[in-house]
Amino acid sequence: MMNNKQKQVYCTFQDAPQHTFPGHPESPHRLHLMREWLTAPPYPEMVWLEFQPASEADALLVHSQAMLESIKAACRMGPHEFEPSPTYMTESSYQAALGAVGATLAISRRILAEGQGRGFAIVRPPGHHAEPDRPMGFCLLNNIAIAAADAVASGAGKVAIIDFDAHHGNGTQEAFWHTPQVGYLSTHEMNIYPGSGRIESAPHARGRIINIPLPPFSDTHAFIDIFHEVAAPWLRNFGAEMLLVSAGFDPHFSDPLTTLTLDTTGFFQIAQMLTNLAEEFCHGRILFVLEGGYDPLALRDNIQACLAALCGRPSFPDHFGRSPGGRSEVESIIEKLKNLHHLKED
Ligand SMILES: [Zn+2]
Repeated sequence: MMNNKQKQVYCTFQDAPQHTFPGHPESPHRLHLMREWLTAPPYPEMVWLEFQPASEADALLVHSQAMLESIKAACRMGPHEFEPSPTYMTESSYQAALGAVGATLAISRRILAEGQGRGFAIVRPPGHHAEPDRPMGFCLLNNIAIAAADAVASGAGKVAIIDFDAHHGNGTQEAFWHTPQVGYLSTHEMNIYPGSGRIESAPHARGRIINIPLPPFSDTHAFIDIFHEVAAPWLRNFGAEMLLVSAGFDPHFSDPLTTLTLDTTGFFQIAQMLTNLAEEFCHGRILFVLEGGYDPLALRDNIQACLAALCGRPSFPDHFGRSPGGRSEVESIIEKLKNLHHLKED
């Protein structure tokens, strides 16, 4: 086992203050508590990287030219909302989206150039609902999908994506529906937005695309069991050169948009587990990319918990405390997933 301590953890930050809409939960306010980290990071291992907005060529690794043109045209219309979730555009939204992609690529490319490393792109707008041909679900460009496609295009080999946001990352799944080099595993609350990610979906990609819908009130124990029994053997089998993590913190029990009951200690445990799995199976290369999470105080603590794990810390200050209660029975889901995806024990 490698020494997890004294690792540098590359971080980028973009709160995109101009990409905002009155009363919308996906707002710059989500990240305002993290601004003080720019001058006083919670852990000395954190290294802030400078970054440029991504190029249009980068966005085209996943998205169609027609979609990019439609976003630019929508921005020219000024602030407005669309589709039921709802998503919004402002004059500066396209630049904000390119910035979030650029902040993600700055870390993934650094890790690949150095052959090792860990990171966390603390960015908005989020990305995992954005499909190749349309923005949706508060997401304009798919930050993590573009980083994965960029890694594959650079000859990095296989890339694994784990998505623990409370919502299914339909856009990421769609981007790699027919891409054998990219694996996708998502845990999400069943029967909520966007409605995709059923356990039997993607029959053509068994063992590569794994969807894990969880009942409401699934708690930290449920997540830990799933990650131990499904994510770990999946990563062992898949043989990825790098692990990307769609880190959405809306499964937290305080989140206003979902009814999962993960707590901050749970996020720490999951991040610790994923960091160790990346050491074992992905050359230690791991990059967290922020997705959802709409309680600013919980979001700050949950991101800090993951940073503590990435920095190899044994613990972190949990101000929020344990979940007030939930349900942890996921044995039948785990059995079904093992059979469906031929996941072998150690
Ligand atoms: Zn979400």
